[in-house]
Amino acid sequence: MPKGKKPRSTTAPHAAAARPGPEATRRLLVRNIGHLVTMDASRRVLRNAWVLAEDGWVRKVGEGRVPRVEGAEILDARGGIVTPGMVNTHHHMFQNLARAFRPISNLPLLPWLAGHIPLWRRFTPDDLFVATQVACVELMLSGCTMTSDHHYLFPRDGAGDVLDAGFHAAADLGIRYVGCRGSVNQPSDIMPEWSTQDLDVILADCARLHGRFHDARPGSMAQVAFAPCTVFGCSGEHYAESARLARSLGARLHTHCGETIPENRDAVERLGTRPLAYMARHGWEGDDVWLAHGIHFTDAEVRRLGRTRTGVAHCPVSNMRLGSGVCRVNDLRATGATVSLGVDGSASNDSGHLLNEARAALLLTRVQHGAGAMTPEQALELATIGGARNLGRSADLGSIEPGKCADLAVFPAEDVFSNGAHDPVHGLVLCHARNVDALVVHGRVRVRDGRVVGLELPPLLERHRRVARRFHDGVKKG
Ligand SMILES: [Zn+2]
Repeated sequence: MPKGKKPRSTTAPHAAAARPGPEATRRLLVRNIGHLVTMDASRRVLRNAWVLAEDGWVRKVGEGRVPRVEGAEILDARGGIVTPGMVNTHHHMFQNLARAFRPISNLPLLPWLAGHIPLWRRFTPDDLFVATQVACVELMLSGCTMTSDHHYLFPRDGAGDVLDAGFHAAADLGIRYVGCRGSVNQPSDIMPEWSTQDLDVILADCARLHGRFHDARPGSMAQVAFAPCTVFGCSGEHYAESARLARSLGARLHTHCGETIPENRDAVERLGTRPLAYMARHGWEGDDVWLAHGIHFTDAEVRRLGRTRTGVAHCPVSNMRLGSGVCRVNDLRATGATVSLGVDGSASNDSGHLLNEARAALLLTRVQHGAGAMTPEQALELATIGGARNLGRSADLGSIEPGKCADLAVFPAEDVFSNGAHDPVHGLVLCHARNVDALVVHGRVRVRDGRVVGLELPPLLERHRRVARRFHDGVKKG
């Protein structure tokens, strides 16, 4: 946001959105920060630091003496490490209900997908609500302040306005949410007829959701992206029309691409071209497009992604779990493509811990290129700045500096797994991933003392377990 311009509050239909009104300025002072990882242009890490937020926006950042601020809410960071709120750029939250699902625990992508789709025949908006709440709690406790959710499951019978439940579940908890309206319009061996929809139904729902939930303004808490699932479930017309509609409305575009070799091979046999070229032919490249996984790209494809500024959501844990391969993170970054992180769905992760994803990205890139291939700071870049860029929010999110949203993850300085770490910031990534002490979203404390504010977690987890069992039992009964 330009200097001197008064930040606008958002009026999105979201519980955490700041609304204009006669009330006094809302101030939050975060003090006693041992290390403040700003992710600003010079990547400064401030010691003994503080952050002052006003009405959801960072007003001042400093080191040493803490200013006296009348009427400010105080958050004591207890000497901890503060990073910008992390951004999750790929997820399927409904899959929380198929975590460690034994029938598919040891399968690669396509049989794995075919193996869990039958679970969802009777999926309802209430099911998505509870799965989304647990998925969001996991993310918040792991430092995430903005998440996307690629939801492509719309059973033909009685699904109703499924993704609306995702928006409500996230709004309830106060996390920023990008609902990616997923879709499949071509039945296949993997996606049966009941899991597909006609293209006109899909596009109408995209437009409806956009009208209802999308807030394009700086500080937005809720946005909508359009997200056909993959080239094996979606026609060329589906891709082309989704892109046309998204661009007419100013929405972003998301899909899977290059996750496995069989998927690339199948596209060549069936469509006569590799998925990336196929998508490009239908308008799917540019800085308003981000692709999930992006593992199996040729050198020319990597250069093309860089040239067109098309983004990639790297999901290292899911890629390892499914044995899909290793994303060419450094090659992509070298060409100018934006790389961010995604936890991916919990049927293939099987936990949505975003800080752990940064650690996995570092380790996996080092497996590929050696110990110097990725620093802890670079892993944190993927989780913060990279995520903000891929979700189109680099102007207001991704770093802690005046004029940006006050989205902060407050991690304890150390825990038993990181005790005595020589460099606390390196320890945050190199040591076993820890949970936050506190989380601030748009200047509001959403996690305090390691707990989501206002949420009774045990009843939510009990309800989630019950729903998960219902799906598991449904499959057993056939
Ligand atoms: Zn995915």
